[in-house]
Amino acid sequence: MNFNHILIRYGEMALKGKNRHLFEQKLQSNLASKLKPFPAARIKKTRGRMYVLLNGEDPHDVMEHCQQVFGIHSLSFAVQVEKEEEQLKEAVMLAFNDAQNAKTFKISSKRTDKEFPIKSSELNPMLGGYILRNTEGVTVDVHDPDVEIKVEVRHDAAYITAQDYPGAGGLPVGTTGKSLLMLSGGIDSPVSGYLTMKRGVAIEAIHFHSPPYTSDRAKQKVLDLANELSKYGKKINVHVVPFTAIQQKIQGEMPEGYSMTIMRRMMMRISEKLAHKQDILSITTGESLGQVASQTMESMNTINEVTNYPIIRPLVSMDKLEIIDIARKIGTYDISIRPYEDCCTVFVPKAPKTKPTRKNANYYEEKVDFNEDIEKALEETYVIQVNEAANKKKDQFDDLL
Ligand code: ATP
Ligand code: MG
Repeated sequence: MNFNHILIRYGEMALKGKNRHLFEQKLQSNLASKLKPFPAARIKKTRGRMYVLLNGEDPHDVMEHCQQVFGIHSLSFAVQVEKEEEQLKEAVMLAFNDAQNAKTFKISSKRTDKEFPIKSSELNPMLGGYILRNTEGVTVDVHDPDVEIKVEVRHDAAYITAQDYPGAGGLPVGTTGKSLLMLSGGIDSPVSGYLTMKRGVAIEAIHFHSPPYTSDRAKQKVLDLANELSKYGKKINVHVVPFTAIQQKIQGEMPEGYSMTIMRRMMMRISEKLAHKQDILSITTGESLGQVASQTMESMNTINEVTNYPIIRPLVSMDKLEIIDIARKIGTYDISIRPYEDCCTVFVPKAPKTKPTRKNANYYEEKVDFNEDIEKALEETYVIQVNEAANKKKDQFDDLL
């Protein structure tokens, strides 16, 4: 016997009143595209819940995929069996064994089919007794069990539900609009993209690339990061902006102490124009406060002057170690630490100004016209779509990396 269902519970979505229907639809369609590698699996929606009917697909593999879908609070394996004593016993044993290391358990039975001859008050000791006889060192705890096994005897069949697995939380991607993620090859911006997606936001990415100062491998790293992020949503468009000319002009004509601030302002201007063109209403960065020279309050203020777009900064209050923890969990860390330099590392001066002002930045920028360079960079921007990871099984991911 094996599990043939996965039960999906969604938490926060239940709060969304009239929008609830839309959220459920989006969750269902996101789930469906996530489960493409499992062609036999089907999704069934009932009141306030969803089920995946496994139809022979591997339960744990499907579970892992479902756990990457935002909008799901928790999940459990379930097995549908005939209303027959031996099958019920085997099913509760299967459910108990799913909770590895569980030392205590509780069975909660419910009998909707009143014609079924065993009452729920009798089912609990009968099925519980079976587990106790077939395990060692395991006891019943009705108040705080390691695992609660739910048994429901309905008219059509009996359903046995095992322990809870955590879902990814958040809201289904695509329910709260779209943001343009400024994606470098670093540790922070991919985490930032992940957290933004968690709030239901679809993302496109923009990357500033400065060949030959930055290599193809540096660009590939960014594409691999975007690919990894696509696991949590769908395909991601990565807009690659050729940035060499602007970098060189900054390097040549702006005072060294301001080159980084002005470079960031250029990036922000280009990002805003691209977002506008794509009907994207916000920009997301991996900035955190106080981490490096570009991330002082003065810097943020000076860089932010050039746009009035909302800037989403999910990492603003996080410590580096917290960010690294998430990067590890979501699978971007190992890609981020590949040693290829990005444009900032190459061009950043040894002593960038940590307290730039808007007044000075404007003063320097007025001396040189960057408009044409900005337009040209936008014209030469090209899009690469990544979505391999979005549609692969786990063993297939490993081949990709
Ligand atoms: P990360 O780890 O994301 O590279 P960081 O700690 O290195 O961030 P900065 O170098 O100050 O921080 O960059 C701040 C943010 O600016 C990045 O998180 C990213 O959103 C954006 N950014 C930096 N370089 C690029 C680039 N080459 N292309 C696109 N966005 C960039
Ligand atoms: Mg960086």
